[in-house]
Amino acid sequence: MRTRFRGQTRREVMLIRGPAGWAEFGPFPEYGPVESAHWLRAAVTAAWEGLGAPLREQVPINATVPAVAPAEVEQVLANYGDLDSIPAVKIKVAEPGANTADDVARVAEVCRLLPRAGIRVDANGAWSMAQAVSQLCKIAEIAGPAFEYAEQPVAGIEPLAELREQLRSRGVPVLIAADEAIRKVDDPLRVAALGAADLMVVKVPPLGGVTRALDIVNRSGLPAVVSSALDTSIGLSAGLALAAQLPDLPYACGLGTVSLFEHDVVAAPLLPSAGVIPVPLAEDREDGKVVRSPEPDPELLHRHRVSAERQAWWFDRLSEAYDVLHGS
Ligand SMILES: [Mg+2]
Repeated sequence: MRTRFRGQTRREVMLIRGPAGWAEFGPFPEYGPVESAHWLRAAVTAAWEGLGAPLREQVPINATVPAVAPAEVEQVLANYGDLDSIPAVKIKVAEPGANTADDVARVAEVCRLLPRAGIRVDANGAWSMAQAVSQLCKIAEIAGPAFEYAEQPVAGIEPLAELREQLRSRGVPVLIAADEAIRKVDDPLRVAALGAADLMVVKVPPLGGVTRALDIVNRSGLPAVVSSALDTSIGLSAGLALAAQLPDLPYACGLGTVSLFEHDVVAAPLLPSAGVIPVPLAEDREDGKVVRSPEPDPELLHRHRVSAERQAWWFDRLSEAYDVLHGS
């Protein structure tokens, strides 16, 4: 990783090749077999059934600013190319150890550098109700009409609904996006049923694959932002496939995360350029154009191969996740 993200500086994933192409199994290290089984379902469906046919051939992409000091914001944004082409910026806030003034200053710096971009903040559920109200009021004032939404400002589903109420009663109608409340619960549709959010952030691996994620979005009736979870370009192609298949895509997607890596496993990484990533496509004899993950580069695979010990750890996880998936 170019910079610490989700508390990590190094990312490991397992790559799987099936008849429909390459796929990625990369549950985060702390995930157990039950959570990992969703990620495995996503990888197996991608590698065996493919990634589907696209409705659009490019996807608008937001930049992501980790919890860095304001002085480092410009450098992070420079990784995304021409600043004027960035349609929206997601800014991480409420990271452990960060103070509330730094979070606001980071948002202000993004607004200063990119006065025309949409602004979102992501607290990963880490704010208390009082902190969320106070911070979002400050951020709404700084960002003004550019403020698109706040992603999972507080943990849970009911608290999101309560926060929406509190902000509205203060005349600060910030849109609320559910993220962890979608992918960390048994029923991803409960958010929509309770009116707890204005939109949902969807990631392919925790929802068990492109088809399942599409189904959840369609049934929720909410606008969706497709996001990635520190995937290599191979895993990322499944997120692009979902974004390419959603009937409506009103917001730029959080699929620019390959920019956070120092290295990738494919020769031409799926990085945003001019604010979009082209969807990787292939001609299929029966289905016409389909989304197809890129091939890993053998030399890069060799260079970034993990130790034998880490490989054994990954095969154990694969086996445990497979037992859960097979049992279901
Ligand atoms: Mg999030």
